Amino acid sequence: MEVQRLVLGIFNTNCYIISGKSLGKCILIDPADDAENIRKWLVQQNLVPEAILLTHGHYDHFLAVPKLQAFWKELPVYCHLLDCPMEKEEHDMGMVFPTVTALSNVRGIEEGQKLWLAGFEITVCHTPGHTKGSVLFLVEDGLFTGDTLFCNSIGRTDFPGGDDAQMHLSLRRISEIKGDYNVYPGHEGLTTLSAEKKYNPYLQCFCKDSGRLYQ
Ligand SMILES: [Zn+2]
Ligand SMILES: [Zn+2]
Repeated sequence: MEVQRLVLGIFNTNCYIISGKSLGKCILIDPADDAENIRKWLVQQNLVPEAILLTHGHYDHFLAVPKLQAFWKELPVYCHLLDCPMEKEEHDMGMVFPTVTALSNVRGIEEGQKLWLAGFEITVCHTPGHTKGSVLFLVEDGLFTGDTLFCNSIGRTDFPGGDDAQMHLSLRRISEIKGDYNVYPGHEGLTTLSAEKKYNPYLQCFCKDSGRLYQ
């Protein structure tokens, strides 16, 4: 599996391009913004996207979708059902932000579902807390965590649909994932599951062999 990261948009959101299994095909995770940049990169690499996967329904993770769908017609967008009908988010100053509902060709996904795309088997793991429909995507040795888990941190729970108690359960679930994975978060740097279990203060409480015991 080859994973390319593009950092896009005003929130420096990580967009990931996964390829290497089926010649010329790839998957886009969270095409955050700057569709032209994404398209240029794909054309340079002779890659055609087979699908777009969204880790959750926040607009800073999907702003490039309409333009990408103009370049590649019928490109499907997979997003958890609970983030699909996200009501219009009103933030401070009365600004209204776009939602997944406005996108076309959206397909709802749910816990435990398997997707076969661009030669990869992808498992959907529902981890609510940052939003109701936040998911992780498990692809080979990669764990795409969106805004649920960051390097040494976690996503906010104070936006609409956020929930501290659900986040707690989701983090416990992540801490119980066996084996090691490369972790590809929705913002900032890459990490590994073993490093997060050891050093991430939000996961440490679930992990017996965490770094806290030795500090
Ligand atoms: Zn978010
Ligand atoms: Zn985000």
